[in-house]
Amino acid sequence: MSFSSNVKEELIKSIPHDRHCRLCELTAILAFAGKRSGSSIFVYQSSETKGAIRKCFTLLNKTFNINTDVLGEGIDNGRTFIEFGRKTPGMSAVLDAIANEAPGYLLSNDCCKRAYLRGTFISVGFVGDPGKSYHLEFVCQDEDSAVMLKELLYDFDIEAKSTKRRKYYVVYIKDADTIQDVLNVLDAHNSLMEFVNARILKDVRNDLNRRNNCDIGNISRAVNAGSKQIDDIRLIEEKVGLDALPAQLQEIAKLRLDNPESSLTELGEMLDPKVGKSGVNHRLRKIGEFAENLRQQ
Ligand SMILES: [Zn+2]
Repeated sequence: MSFSSNVKEELIKSIPHDRHCRLCELTAILAFAGKRSGSSIFVYQSSETKGAIRKCFTLLNKTFNINTDVLGEGIDNGRTFIEFGRKTPGMSAVLDAIANEAPGYLLSNDCCKRAYLRGTFISVGFVGDPGKSYHLEFVCQDEDSAVMLKELLYDFDIEAKSTKRRKYYVVYIKDADTIQDVLNVLDAHNSLMEFVNARILKDVRNDLNRRNNCDIGNISRAVNAGSKQIDDIRLIEEKVGLDALPAQLQEIAKLRLDNPESSLTELGEMLDPKVGKSGVNHRLRKIGEFAENLRQQ
């Protein structure tokens, strides 16, 4: 299962304790995944809304003690939806109660705003696998819903961005800290922990990679420089003999041939008297120039 499905599953399983929160979660599901018409509920059908439908049934049952079932499928504006609720005694009164009470709760209770956001995430939310990328989004049918959702998130100091994607209005967050805040507001605590762990692992791995690349870079630069020096020294040896070099350069040339992998500092320490890294570098550069002259001739 994807991380997003795990988050949804956690949210679907948790049933709010209070009636006010339950009504608000139902309101969000009806607003984002479907619509009400008389005593019927229509929920747009997609793999994403299956959980929303399940949660709808559970909330109706636990809050109003009514059991409802799927009545059938239909098509509206090119989208498939399933219908339920009609034929269930008392359904109309239940839906009226939800419609009348929820807006007041939403205005005054933080718990209800969280419940509403949970219902919204179950219906149209998505969050990327934290091991790969940081991305959380809500895909809204219209601009008003997107604006409302952004304001609701802002009540929790969460700043989301929005964009139009084809005919949808997408509210999204790409920042890991802010995604953690959202998971916290949704009360998706297990998912939050999973997210934090994945994030730590990813940071550690990136850090290791960075250091590894850096070490390998340094080593290969040193090896390349060393093998260029050896090529130069061999060329001098073949063409004119190392005796053609001044004594100081002869000395370092022989040391380099005998110690192809030593660093400049190590070479300097083998000299008597010892010479610092920059002194060794200077002598090797002179050898390079000498070889270059021979090549030109
Ligand atoms: Zn509440």
